[in-house]
This record gives sequence, C-alpha cells and structure tokens, in this order.
Amino acid sequence: MSVLDDRPAAHDRIVAKQNGIFRSILMRSHARVVVIGGGLVGCSILYHLTKLGWTDVVLLERDELTSGSTWHAAANIHGLHDNNNISKLQYYTMQLYQQLEDETGQGCGIFRTGSLYLAQTRDREHQLRIQAAKARYFGVDFHELSIAEAQALHPLIDFDGIRCVMLEPDGGSVDPSGVTHAYAQGARERGADIHRFTPVIETNPRADGGWDVVTPSGTIQADVVVNAAGLWGREVAKLAGFELPLMTMEHQYLVTEEIPEIAAMEERLPSVADRDGEYYLRQEGTGLLVGAYERDGRFWAEAGTPLDFGHELLPDDLDRIEENILRACARIPTLAAAGVKRVINGPMIWSPDSSALFGPVPELQNYYCCNGIIPGFSQSGGLGMLLAQWIVEGEPELDLFPWDMARYGAWATKTFTKARALDCYAHRFKIHFPYEERDAGRPVRTRPVYERQKAMGAAFGLSYGWEHPLWFAGNGEAPIDEYGYERQNWFAPVAAECQALRSSVGVIDISNYAKYEIKGPGAAQWLDRLVANHVPSEIGRSCLTPMLGVRGGIAGDFTITKLDDEHFLMIGSGIAERYHARFFRMVPRTDSLIVRSLSDAWAGFNVAGPKSRALLQRLTNEDLSTASFPFMRSRRMRVAGIDATALRVSFTGDLGWELHVDQGDQQALYDALFEAGADLGLRAVGSRSLLSLRVEKGYGSWGREYSPEYWPQEVGLDRLIKLDKSDFLGRAAYLALKDRPPREKLVSLAVDATTADALGGEPIFTTDGEPVGRVSSGAYGHSVDTSLALGFIKTEHAVPEQEFDIAILGRPHRARLLPEPLFDPKGTVLRA
Ligand SMILES: Cc1cc2nc3c(=O)[nH]c(=O)nc-3n(C[C@H](O)[C@H](O)[C@H](O)COP(=O)(O)OP(=O)(O)OC[C@H]3O[C@@H](n4cnc5c(N)ncnc54)[C@H](O)[C@@H]3O)c2cc1C
Repeated sequence: MSVLDDRPAAHDRIVAKQNGIFRSILMRSHARVVVIGGGLVGCSILYHLTKLGWTDVVLLERDELTSGSTWHAAANIHGLHDNNNISKLQYYTMQLYQQLEDETGQGCGIFRTGSLYLAQTRDREHQLRIQAAKARYFGVDFHELSIAEAQALHPLIDFDGIRCVMLEPDGGSVDPSGVTHAYAQGARERGADIHRFTPVIETNPRADGGWDVVTPSGTIQADVVVNAAGLWGREVAKLAGFELPLMTMEHQYLVTEEIPEIAAMEERLPSVADRDGEYYLRQEGTGLLVGAYERDGRFWAEAGTPLDFGHELLPDDLDRIEENILRACARIPTLAAAGVKRVINGPMIWSPDSSALFGPVPELQNYYCCNGIIPGFSQSGGLGMLLAQWIVEGEPELDLFPWDMARYGAWATKTFTKARALDCYAHRFKIHFPYEERDAGRPVRTRPVYERQKAMGAAFGLSYGWEHPLWFAGNGEAPIDEYGYERQNWFAPVAAECQALRSSVGVIDISNYAKYEIKGPGAAQWLDRLVANHVPSEIGRSCLTPMLGVRGGIAGDFTITKLDDEHFLMIGSGIAERYHARFFRMVPRTDSLIVRSLSDAWAGFNVAGPKSRALLQRLTNEDLSTASFPFMRSRRMRVAGIDATALRVSFTGDLGWELHVDQGDQQALYDALFEAGADLGLRAVGSRSLLSLRVEKGYGSWGREYSPEYWPQEVGLDRLIKLDKSDFLGRAAYLALKDRPPREKLVSLAVDATTADALGGEPIFTTDGEPVGRVSSGAYGHSVDTSLALGFIKTEHAVPEQEFDIAILGRPHRARLLPEPLFDPKGTVLRA
C-alpha cells in the first residue's frame, strides 16, 4: 500500500512548477540573512530572526514549504532530554506552538493530550526517575502515575509488566504543515520575504565577507547564509565547498483505520512512549498512529538526496518494522485488530550522533548550519531561537556544544557517518547510559601506542575521532564497559589506577589535548588579544588563561607556554579544536604569523604522582628538582633520548609533568617510561581516573564547569582576567558583567552515595526541596574515599558546610558543600 495514491495534487503541482507557473520573482537583491530551506527548521529560524528585530531577511525554498522531511512527519512533541540545555529548548518549543497560533492565527494542530512514558525494566525506571527529578528542577510537570491512574487515562493499554509510568501533561503532537506555515506567517508579518519554488543553485563567497546566493530567478547578496536544507543539507553545504557528516535513512509509521473504541471516546488518548517496546504511538483521527525505528534500518540516497525529490514517499516495507508493531499490538490489543489505512515511509537525515549540526561553519565567514535535525517538532523553536541569537547577538545564550557542528572534524568520514547513523537509528529508543561509548564506525584514528595500550587491557573511548584509553582492565578482566546507572565494572580498576597514581606514579595518555603552535612576529600580541590573562613574557613560563566569549563567558581555557621569543605553545580541550578555530579567526593576524595545530602531529603523556620525579629523573639528565624546574615552568628536554616539550603542570592535582613529543616517538617514550617505572609501581591510567582525580582537587573542565554560559566570577576564573592589558576577546562584555554578583557559584560537594555516584546534570535541592543548582561533574574520589560532585549552586545558598539533596537516580542523596577540595587543598603536593 502506498500513500502516493492519496496525493494526486503532488503530481499537478510538480507539473505546474516545471511549467514555471510558480517561479517566484526575487523582491530584493540584498538581505541581511538568506535562509536556504523552507522546512520546519528554516521557517523557525526566519521567524526568530524577525523576532530579534532583523526583518531584512529572506527564505528561499526549492519547492513548496515543508517539502523535505517536514510534511510527512508524525510530529510528536516531547520535552525531556538527557541533556539539560536541550530539555530547556524543547520546553520552550512546546510552549511556543500555542503562542505562535495565537499570534498568527494560523492553526498549528496542537493536541496536548499528554504523553505516557512506560518503563518495563529497572534501567528504564531509573531513566524516568532521573528525568522526573530534572523536571522538578526545571519547574516542569513530569510526574509518576499509578497504574490505575494511567489505565484511566489510556484504557486501551495492557499494563502487564510495566514497572513505572510517568505522565508529561504537555506532550502530544502538532500539525507539521500548520506549524511550518505559522512560523512563515509570523516572519512575513514582521517583514521577511519567502520565495517558494526558488532553488539555491550556487552560494559564492564575496570579498566583503558576505555571500552571493544564486537562484534561477536572480542573485541575492546576503550578509549571512543559513543552510537549513534538511534532507539536502549535504548538497547545499557542497555549494559552499564543505562537507557535512550526514546520512539519509528511511523511517516508517502507519495509521490505522477507525478503531471503534476510540471513535466512541470523548477524550483524546495520550500518546505513548514505550521505548522498551521500541515504537511510538498516538491517536490519529479515530485510529492510531504507530511508528518504529527498526534494528535493521535502511539507508536512502546514500550518494546524495536527488534534487528533484519532492512531496514523495518511499515504498512501504512493513515487514521491517513488524517486530516493533507486534510489540505495540501486545501492549494495545485493539491495535492488532485494526486495518492499516496508510503507511508513511519517508526519509530523514542523521548526523553521527543523531544531534543537530548547528552553528557557524568555523572555516567560513558568515555561514551558519542547522542540519541533521531528528526530533524537529520537539526542537524547532529552540533551534530557531538560538541560531537567531548566534547570528544577531554573536553567541547563543546557552552552551550548545552537544549540538555544535564543530564537534565533528574531517575525521568524521562518510564510512564513519554511515556506521554511526545506522547505529543511532537502530538504537533510537535504547537507553543511552552514562559513560556510553558506541562501537559503530570505530576505530577512526589511532595513535602509535594503540595496539600496545590494547594489549595492556585498555578500554577505549572516542575523543574527537581518536581512540583514547578510558581505563585499563586488570588481569582476568575484560576491558569492556558493562553499562548501567549504578557504579559499573570499571569502578574497581579505576580505583586501582587512582590509588597507584596518588601513592606512586601513573601515566595518562593526553594525546587528545588540542595543541597549537603560535610562532612568528606578533605572536605575543596576537595571543594577548585572544586570551584574557597576560601571556607569559619569560621563556619557559606557562600560564593558565580563559578565553572569553562574545557574552563574556568562558569560551575556552588554555595553558600557554612561552617556548622562545615569539614562539608559544597553547594547550586546550581536544574536543573543542574546531570550535577554537572560530575564535582564532576573530583576532586578525599577519601572514607571517604561524598559528597551526599540532594536535595530530604530537602525542603526549602526563606522568604524575609522588614518584613521577624519580621516574623521569631516571630518563633525563635535566635537574627536575623544584628549585630547578618549578611548577608552571616548561623546558625542552630529552627524555629517554627523545626530544620532548616538558611542562610542569597538573590536571590531576598531583606532582607531575606533561611530556609532548612527535607522534613518531610516542611508542618509544611509552616503552621507556614503563621500563624505567616498573619497580616504582608505575601504572597506566585512563581518562575515567583523570575525572576522579580532578574532581578530588576541585578542578573544572571545559564543557562541564567552563562554558560560554558561565561568567568568570561564577567559576573562579575572574582572577585570571587582566583588565590592565589592551583589548582582548570578550573584554567589553566582561566589563559589563564583572561587577554583577555571580548568579551561581561553582562548588565541590561530598555526597552520601553508596551504589551510584553523581554524573553531571543531576538537580540539587535544598533539604527543604527547593531547586537551587545542578551537578556539572561527579565521580568517586578514590584517594579521599568519598563520593564527590562539582556543581553550580545559587549564590545565596553556596555556603560552606551547607547540606543539600542531590537527585541521583532521581532520589535524594544528602550532600555537603566542601569549604575546600578534599585532595591537597593548599597545593603543597602540586608544588613539591
Ligand atoms: C516518517 C517521519 C516521521 C517523523 N516524525 C517525527 C516526529 O514525530 N516528531 C519530530 O519531532 N520529528 C519527526 N520527524 C523528523 C522531522 O520531520 C524533521 O526533524 C524535520 O522535518 C526537519 O525539518 P528541516 O526543516 O530541518 O528539514 P526538511 O523538512 O527536509 O526541509 C528542508 C527544506 O529545504 C528545502 N531545500 C533543500 N535544498 C534547497 C535549495 N538548494 N534551495 C532552496 N531550498 C532547498 C527543501 O525543499 C525542504 O523544504 C519525522 C520524520 C520522518 C521522515
């Protein structure tokens, strides 16, 4: 059965278009922004641009509005997401639809029926309870129902085997076309132009930083271009000369004939999220709509979305989703007896982690993306608002790194993207456990010591494309994560790694750090304009420094070392390499100044712990005593005959050195360290241990404690901002906020936890139940024998020794605000 039969109008429309009837005449030759793509997302971006006051904006659509994935979507909407900021955006979106309808008069087909979330397993119950606790923090209604209450709301469900049910009263569905047209209308009413049947066929950069956007109807000079071309995101990106890691896949749902029990009901049924059953279900008319992400997903148009694909659907293949549908029938027995009225098999386009590819393209000027959107109806408002903020205000108000297109580099090849897209599709409703590392598409990039680390029992994770050791299994243990919400199988090996490092010495692979060389005339001045601290003036000195964002928050944190005159090494978060590039572009430089990444060419180890000096001293003739080589100093030196740049810095809080060497020397250095350190108890230490060690010391990390969302005075980095120097990125914004009291404070907490530690994202309540903060990082502190968390707490509550409740696994766990870090609070070990 095909719904193509239901759409005779589509054919007439295409013929009319071919005859040129709909060809539009461009109203403007210039626009501040041209949005390419009139799907749900492009229209939302246009709408939000006009809401921020940019009305000289144009949207160009190849066909009719909604001509990509939008028109055939099931259009279910949900609020909660595992990521707090994405939850905020989804709530915003859900509320927006009603406002949009009121504002424009265009019906959005909103059915706020509520959504029932069912848990069949203990882990799913944990997931729902975690989300319920977060909802309480956000002030959103997401609460548990008894089975009897749930049964009263949805009499057709067989609740046998259901452990827990939650209700999201705002959940439901919308009309895809109505919502898209409402955004379009709202934008038009504020002055935006929308041209349908106007395909963009070229985008050419202009010397003034803008773009010539070429269509068969003429060219528009745009200050800014936005790629919101949905299914054609890849093709539109290619017009500007870059690639997006996206892959198209088929997705199916069916709609039943009338079900008499539903026809007889007065109230509409709530939608059902039975994720253990791997299907979604809601009422459609007097029948039901059931959709599924099957395990055996199908790619579509792998080589590129056909340019003439319009309001078409793909041939049905219900056999592929049969298992899922049977599970739905078991849960809702009336479904089994219902006839199928229509089947929708439509394409949707996936990024490697199923999250958006969002934000300015770092290598281009004034070119933004908003692609790879899977739950578009849950996210369109938030995406549109934040992209509009980015364009108009220079930066979105929320940290969006999990959506930032810069999280992928050229390493995200087509093979990788395909493998990940298939994996994401097949596991759409699977629980994504904390610390989850997906195997699909790996390895992509390995360092020379990969095989050696593997032989040593390393369990690897993916770090900006690199295989990176997370923990090392002991004898007889398999280096495989066994996932769950409670402490996992790597808890004991990580404890052993941490104890070895704190009591003797450990080697941590830090090759995944981002490393930049800045060399040539004006190197110091360029850095001075980039970062907020004074750049070291003495050769061999290092400094820590924040880089401020457009709103004055923490856009980056770096260690900068002066290697020589006009020659610096800058080290920062490896996952942010392409993100950093955006900021580097903002500071002008001459052609003679070299700013280049050494991240791929160099590898590195952090040798740390009380015996690190003794170990390294065996391998070098340099004097490593504090008198000769103090904290925050660096030196080029030979270690085991290998040229290394050695920095005496520490992210573990312990005595230690970072050694950075040519990647070709990595294996020889690793071998030499283990040979020399055997009798000292040297141990390979992975990044899960590093998390525990830094949390013991109260050190923040970029993406967790440091983000553009946080003000320097909230995270204690204001002391590193030097206003006595000339202009630097974010200076004016920081001046405007520096005297404002911090909204929240970054604090360390000791937690009463026995089976599960905080992970990050958990809400923090006062002991009276008032939401006052959230955890940013959590770990068990093995050397201080305490479960720990770093988190943000409203300033008025951030009082030492104050007690709180952290909702771990959704249940309160008492926590105490620590007046100082538990490990080495005075820094004596660090400087020993
Ligand atoms: C079967 C199915 C069910 C779904 N169900 C849900 C659901 O229940 N809930 C949910 O939230 N999401 C759902 N989705 C996903 C949702 O449809 C998408 O997230 C959303 O439609 C993406 O919108 P978009 O604007 O990014 O892309 P698209 O809808 O693909 O729009 C892109 C637009 O760009 C235009 N365009 C492309 N190239 C050019 C060019 N060169 N010049 C000018 N214009 C161009 C296209 O014609 C098109 O109109 C579903 C998807 C499918 C396939």
